[in-house]
Amino acid sequence: MKILVLNCGSSSIKFQLIETDSELIESNTDRCIAKGGVERIGTDEATLKVTVPPSPTKSSTEEILDHQTALTRAIAALKEHHAVADISQIQAVGHRVLHGGERFSAPVIIDEEVEHGIQQCIELGPLHNPHNLRGYYVARKVMPQVPQVAVFDTAFHQTMPPHAYLYGLPYSYYRRYHIRRYGFHGTSHRYVAFRYRQIFHKAREEANLITVHLGNGCSITAIQKGLCIDTSMGLTPQEGLVMGTRCGDIDSAAVLYIMSKDELTLHDTSVLLNKFSGLYGISGESNDMRELMAAAAKGDEQAKLAIDVFCYRIKKYIGAYSAALGHVDGLVFTGGIGENSPDIRSQTCEGLTELGIQIDPARNAALAGKEGEISPEGSRIRVMVIPTNEELLIARDTFRVVRGIPNPH
Ligand code: ADP
Repeated sequence: MKILVLNCGSSSIKFQLIETDSELIESNTDRCIAKGGVERIGTDEATLKVTVPPSPTKSSTEEILDHQTALTRAIAALKEHHAVADISQIQAVGHRVLHGGERFSAPVIIDEEVEHGIQQCIELGPLHNPHNLRGYYVARKVMPQVPQVAVFDTAFHQTMPPHAYLYGLPYSYYRRYHIRRYGFHGTSHRYVAFRYRQIFHKAREEANLITVHLGNGCSITAIQKGLCIDTSMGLTPQEGLVMGTRCGDIDSAAVLYIMSKDELTLHDTSVLLNKFSGLYGISGESNDMRELMAAAAKGDEQAKLAIDVFCYRIKKYIGAYSAALGHVDGLVFTGGIGENSPDIRSQTCEGLTELGIQIDPARNAALAGKEGEISPEGSRIRVMVIPTNEELLIARDTFRVVRGIPNPH
């Protein structure tokens, strides 16, 4: 089955066309036929990029004023570059949806009721859900016969127990406004946990894992017997680890103090915490880990400080989740930084030998952007690098939901 995976933002659409079915999933041979995106939608300088491997990326700049035109152009480009002979070959669409609230704990076919449910979650995910929904409306218009499936970033974390998802606030805020930890990056954590078990031939019950997703956004999850029992992101993707531009955990009183000192509005404060904090805020120069590492190597103290804060926060969470799990079998690094940076991995795991976490320097240095083990031979806890593939999992979920096959992950 050819499945179009869509991730729709305010002025962009990212897409992948993935071929998958039961046999391909079993044999791990499902594959990305094409990928690409449209950026700067709403302008006369929108860029459309399509890659149909092994051909190089084709890029064009044109006027694309709305998302429907963007999707129509993307599908036309898929035809032009022979990824599909005709639009009718696309048999389902899988949408990445940020927030599913407490209502969605698994992927679902989008019908009127689900659409309404996603609308109700807009309050919880105001920056993403409206655009994710827009992707659905547009795809439904362009491909009316095709089933559309929503795969939620929050769904995997819905197995967290109340003691992990409740904040120390009056309980009425949970009842009235659904204020609680939801967690994000669920598809990524679920994918790497699934790959870990597949690599070591383990059943879900046989592996307790800590999965660390380090990209521009960063989060860490404790997975017990296949189920999420805790995760670092909260009501929004703001909580937890220090990220590219987000602050992560912070004393809530510090926020009130800054607001009062600098007379900031709610909007100013949200921008400060989301866009000007984290690695960018501490270093004062960049949110990009590669740039910071290059600067630190040249003696830039502020860049080094940002990296130190970043790694220390992850280490603390690894300790906390070791305690939450009681017994840990594996630690998995993923995301742009987790997959590509041996230095960040080793700094993060420094001094964790007592917890059973060790890194083999040669194995670690040899692994950039590739899957493999970085702990020494025979370690009690296997430390792994596993490149994430959220789109693949969205395609697999979409296939299963459309065919009514229960999800084994
Ligand atoms: P997103 O969360 O937007 O998907 P990515 O997962 O692509 O982001 O991660 C982006 C981050 O990964 C950036 O901070 C980038 O500098 C970092 N990164 C990519 N390659 C390396 C590398 N070789 N060493 C260190 N950091 C890297």
